[in-house]
Amino acid sequence: ASSADQPTSSAGEGVENLVIIGSGPAGYTAAIYAARANLKPVVFEGYQVGGVPGGQLMTTTEVENFPGFPDGITGPDLMDRMRRQAERWGAELYQEDVEFIDVNNSPFTIQSSDRKVKCHSIIVATGATARRLNLPREDEFWSRGISACAICDGASPLFKGQVLAVVGGGDTATEEAIYLTKYARHVHLLVRRDQMRASKAMQDRVVDNPNITVHFNTETLDVVSNTKGQMSGILIKKHDTGEESVLEAKGLFYGIGHSPNSQLLEGQVDLDDSGYILVKDGNAKTSVEGVFAAGDVQDHEWRQAVTAAGSGCIAALSVERYLVSNN
Ligand code: FAD
Repeated sequence: ASSADQPTSSAGEGVENLVIIGSGPAGYTAAIYAARANLKPVVFEGYQVGGVPGGQLMTTTEVENFPGFPDGITGPDLMDRMRRQAERWGAELYQEDVEFIDVNNSPFTIQSSDRKVKCHSIIVATGATARRLNLPREDEFWSRGISACAICDGASPLFKGQVLAVVGGGDTATEEAIYLTKYARHVHLLVRRDQMRASKAMQDRVVDNPNITVHFNTETLDVVSNTKGQMSGILIKKHDTGEESVLEAKGLFYGIGHSPNSQLLEGQVDLDDSGYILVKDGNAKTSVEGVFAAGDVQDHEWRQAVTAAGSGCIAALSVERYLVSNN
């Protein structure tokens, strides 16, 4: 039998102490802590985001708010450093997607595209996916005018002092719009329906803010660029009149929500109404003993690299305790 003190054989040959699913800040931080605790974690890094490991930050340029990098660091560089740190301490990394999990029987079973692994514990760190509008020029302007995170990008020189727009009518969009008024010259909130879904308090804060203009019945069709190839506006259409026009703006922020990547565990662990994994008592435990969750897949509120990393640390330390007490 495996335990925290007796490392198991490599994936596929025995029962592993711990399998970590995901290679964002949560997964790699969990891997660093678990590897340093001699748990010999097996990590399925996945390749769903952009065909490479590293998670959401692989899709961004500068990360300016991760502690320890006073001059900023690119998302891919930060993730490469986390990956190398996990590898250095002995985490076993597989660039494969997990396709099936069974946590109804112990030891648990995990099936990836290339192998089947039995394990005593799991940390699910599969992240979340920011919903996109799939605009015709979205890929061209992603991180060059279009963003899914106001807190991450609002203060960037690209957006500071500019006219910006946020699309969405819920709490996320209204929060993003209010946050962006700290940096932007003016913020337009583009709401598809004739009313907002956000809480009354958030709606009031938006409407009362002289730096925000709310556009109801407004469909966001595409972004437009100037002769230098920079984003210069947003093509919108009014539902009620059918009229199309270009709204001048240097940035478009998506506030249309995130989808947690929790499908593998549907029906096996408790999820909330939006599909986020429910964790207990701040210690990363899910409704199934031995299954832990970290990062954006269990966090609908903060969704930052540093909070994901912090929860990855908590999950790994919780696993260590769990394995010792179940030895
Ligand atoms: P993720 O980073 O989402 O990683 C999840 C991982 O799980 C991925 O590697 C994925 O491939 C893997 N996975 C999913 N399903 C499977 C499967 N079935 N099998 C195996 N692997 C799987 N935060 C900041 O703090 N600062 C910033 O500047 C910042 N900028 C951002 C810019 C953009 C464009 C985006 C989208 C987000 C940004 N964020 C930023 C938010 C930050 O990226 C996330 O909060 C953080 O990455 C969440 O980490 P995570 O480990 O929970 O998950």
